[in-house]
Amino acid sequence: MSDFSLQLNEDQLQLQKWVHEFAENVMRPQAEEWDEKEEFPWSFVQEAAEIGLYGWEFMAEMMFNDPTGQSMMISLEEMFWGDAGLGMAVMGSGLAAAGIAASGTSEQVMEWVPQCYGDAQNVQLGAFCASEPDAGSDVNGYRLRAKYDEASDEWVLNGTKAWITNGGIANIHVVVAVVDSDLGSKGHASFVIPPNTPGLSQGQKYKKHGIRASHTAEVVLDDVRIPGSCLLGGKDKLDERLARVREGKSGNSQAAMQTFEATRPAVGAQALGIARAAYEYSLEYAKERHAFGRPIIMNQSIAFMLADMATEIDAARLLVRRAAWLGKQKAFVNAEGSMAKLKAGRVAVHSTERAIQILGGYGYTREYPVERWHRDAKIFDIFEGTEQIQQLVISRAISGLRIQ
Ligand SMILES: Cc1cc2nc3c(=O)[nH]c(=O)nc-3n(C[C@H](O)[C@H](O)[C@H](O)COP(=O)(O)OP(=O)(O)OC[C@H]3O[C@@H](n4cnc5c(N)ncnc54)[C@H](O)[C@@H]3O)c2cc1C
Repeated sequence: MSDFSLQLNEDQLQLQKWVHEFAENVMRPQAEEWDEKEEFPWSFVQEAAEIGLYGWEFMAEMMFNDPTGQSMMISLEEMFWGDAGLGMAVMGSGLAAAGIAASGTSEQVMEWVPQCYGDAQNVQLGAFCASEPDAGSDVNGYRLRAKYDEASDEWVLNGTKAWITNGGIANIHVVVAVVDSDLGSKGHASFVIPPNTPGLSQGQKYKKHGIRASHTAEVVLDDVRIPGSCLLGGKDKLDERLARVREGKSGNSQAAMQTFEATRPAVGAQALGIARAAYEYSLEYAKERHAFGRPIIMNQSIAFMLADMATEIDAARLLVRRAAWLGKQKAFVNAEGSMAKLKAGRVAVHSTERAIQILGGYGYTREYPVERWHRDAKIFDIFEGTEQIQQLVISRAISGLRIQ
C-alpha cells in the first residue's frame, strides 16, 4: 500500500500543466459557442483526440498506470475548469469503457473499449445505458429485458433507456438489462451492442439546463438481436451468479461497494473544476469592480464569500484526493467516494451561485461565463447518483443499517 500524499510527482505536475493549457487555450474559447448551439462538438473532440487527451490509451494510463489515483483527479479538475459541457463530451465514452472493464472478460475489453474511442482520424463514442424513464435512482425498477435465444445463441433486447450521454450517436452502447425479473438488481446483466445493430435507435434528445455541449438522449431497443459473445463476462459466469443468488448465497456486496465508490471521486473532481473556475473568476472581478469608491472586495461581505468559497473548494479537493487514493487501495470504509462526490457537487453549485452574486447583474447575463458555470454545476447533484442517493449510501455505511 502506498502512502497517501497530496504531493504531486513530476509526471503529474506535467500532466496538470498540459491539461490546463488545453483547457485554457482550446476549451475556454469555444465553450460559449457549443453551449449556445447545444450540439455534440465533434470537431472539438477530434482536437482532443489529436493531442491524445481523448482516447482509450489516455484512459488506460490514468486508470491502470497510476498507483496514487491522483492523475485522473488532476486531469479532470483542469478539464472541467476549462468547460464542463466540452469536458463531458470528452469523458462520456469513459462511462461505457468503465462498464465494459467492470464486467467484461479481458478479450471483451480488448475488442470493445478501443471502439468506444476510435482515433483522431475517426472519432467514435461509447454510451453507458442504465437509467430508464421510470427508474433512475431505483435500479430495481429497470424494465428493459434481455432474453436468450438458445437456438441461435443470440440475446434479444427490448425496452427504452433514458438520459443517456452519447445515446444514439455512439458506436458502442453498453446496456444494462433485466435477465431475471424475480431477482431485482441482482437479475441484471450488461451487454455490448455493436455498431449499426438493427433495432437500436435514438429517441428524444433532451434540451438541458446545462452541460449543453454533451449529448443526452433516450435509446430505444426494439428486438435488438446480438450474438451471445456480447454478454459481458459470458453466459457461464452469468448462470453461475444467478444460481448463487437464487440459492440466497448472493454476491459480494463489499466488492460491489468498492467498485461503485471508486468511480465517484472522478465525478467529484469534475465538479471541483467548475467550482474553482467560478471562484477564480469572481475573485479577480471583485478586485477590479468598484462601487462606492472602492473595489467591491474591500467589503467584508464580498471578501468573506470568497473566503468561504476558497475554504469549501479546498475541503472538497481533500475529500476527492483522499477518496481517489482509497479507491486505489480498495480501502473504503465509510463510503468516502460518495462523500467526495456529494461534497464537491454541493460546492460547485454553491460557488457558482455565489459567483453570480459577486458579479451582480453582469453575473446574471450570458455575457459572462458564471451563469453557464452555474447551470453546468447543477448536474453534479443529479447524475451518477443524486445528492440523496449519496446520503443514503453514506448513512448506510456509517450506521450498518438499511436506512430507507
Ligand atoms: C445530463 C444527464 C446525463 C446522464 N447520463 C447518464 C448516462 O450516461 N447513463 C445513465 O444510465 N444515466 C444517465 N443519467 C441519468 C441519471 O443518472 C439519473 O437522472 C439519476 O440517477 C436520477 O434518476 P432520475 O432522474 O430517474 O430521478 P429519480 O430517481 O426519480 O429521483 C428524483 C428525486 O427523488 C430522490 N430520490 C429517489 N429515491 C430516493 C430515496 N430512496 N431516498 C431519498 N431520495 C430519493 C432523488 O434524489 C431525486 O431528488 C444522466 C442524467 C442527466 C440529467
